[in-house]
Amino acid sequence: MKRILILGAGTAGTIMANKLRKSLDREDWEITIIDREKIHYYQPGLLFIPFGIYNKNDVIKPKSDFIPAGVNLIFQEISRIDATDNRVLLGNGKSLEYDFLVIATGAHLEPSETPGMLDKLWHKEIFDFYTLEGALALNEYFRDWPGGKLVMAITEMPFKCPVAPIEFVCLAEAFFTRKGMREKVDISLVTPLAGAFTKPVATRMLSDLLEEKNIHIVPDFYIEHIDNDNKKLVSYDEKEVPFDVLTIIPMNKGADFIGTCGLGDDMNFVPVNKNTLQHEEHKNIFAIGDGAALPTSKAGSVAHFSAEILFENIMSAIENRPLTAHFDGHSNCYIETGYGKGALIDFNYDTEPLPGTFPLPGIGPFGLLKNTKINHYGKLMFRWIYWHILLKGKQLPIEAEMSMAGKRVVNY
Ligand SMILES: Cc1cc2nc3c(=O)[nH]c(=O)nc-3n(C[C@H](O)[C@H](O)[C@H](O)COP(=O)(O)OP(=O)(O)OC[C@H]3O[C@@H](n4cnc5c(N)ncnc54)[C@H](O)[C@@H]3O)c2cc1C
Repeated sequence: MKRILILGAGTAGTIMANKLRKSLDREDWEITIIDREKIHYYQPGLLFIPFGIYNKNDVIKPKSDFIPAGVNLIFQEISRIDATDNRVLLGNGKSLEYDFLVIATGAHLEPSETPGMLDKLWHKEIFDFYTLEGALALNEYFRDWPGGKLVMAITEMPFKCPVAPIEFVCLAEAFFTRKGMREKVDISLVTPLAGAFTKPVATRMLSDLLEEKNIHIVPDFYIEHIDNDNKKLVSYDEKEVPFDVLTIIPMNKGADFIGTCGLGDDMNFVPVNKNTLQHEEHKNIFAIGDGAALPTSKAGSVAHFSAEILFENIMSAIENRPLTAHFDGHSNCYIETGYGKGALIDFNYDTEPLPGTFPLPGIGPFGLLKNTKINHYGKLMFRWIYWHILLKGKQLPIEAEMSMAGKRVVNY
């Protein structure tokens, strides 16, 4: 009996467990998946909680509902990988051996890395919305906030779902307009980037959109500390941004045990070949999802597309064949923009988000870098697709590889 261990039963690990179990003979292959948490969070849904669009029950389900029969599910802390002995150590002192290891332990928040973030205002006037607790606390706070300076700040790159802060400020703008108090709320997006997004064409479209909504962008701002007494962000070059309420994306890091066992980079993300997803040093170790150090977005869509490639490559590795499936960095993200509309971006390692239609040229129905109602419905539909199709490793009618069909090449 040979063994595959999957570390992390989030988006990527769950998809891999489903795909591998369907194809590998149960007599020959034992598959085990390990996670410390029993609840699966639909993380894209956290964005909607501060504004009362979703509640807690819309974003949580038991992890066990999505792990197929024939896969051992263990709820335990993962403490260490011993890559020379092909062994993983768990928090309860037990160890598990593997023939192949899939690391899918994602990215988590490290608010303690920024001085002042966890001081007296944390979850009182400084909030994150990347955790259920943070999103719920913000929902409570917004109920009777009289208005003032609302600052949405990004601490550091990379972080999961790079469009989420843009969506947050757009939804906040619509929320306070609906409450009849928009003129009392000054909204800013503070970012270490030079603009609203990482790539020029999308940055241009998104910056124009924010300007139309009277949302200010404060670019090139690297937060050094948060001054709780005077309620302001202070940058390394001593610029300051005052706030009444601050929503923040704390530093994102890979799992601590990745760092301590020497398999990660300085942010504890796992360096893998960006096309095959195989670890640079240990050929029976692969990494997928937010926990992998890949030069594309940390996004559920990336986990989903790359799972198809990783599945093929693991099947090849098992049969001692060369790894011929290549991940191109494909990412596809709906961007909620408020008032029942949304935008969509589709890109990969080499092609930045471009305008056009998706998935069908000229037909769509979704518009790339366009603010449309149908894109908003795409985003809402995605939750159902996530729970019922994506996590279960079923096929979606979208190719893992990015297509240029429907895209219009433009330069700014
Ligand atoms: C607010 C928000 C909005 C988002 N919106 C979108 C969107 O619109 N579109 C999109 O494509 N993506 C979006 N994302 C990103 C998407 O949710 C993630 O990219 C995706 O879930 C990553 O999957 P993963 O499997 O790599 O990590 P996760 O799903 O986070 O899973 C990692 C798992 O590893 C476990 N784990 C970690 N360390 C240990 C340990 N030491 N021991 C045991 N278990 C451990 C964790 O408990 C977790 O279950 C959003 C994310 C957020 C936070």
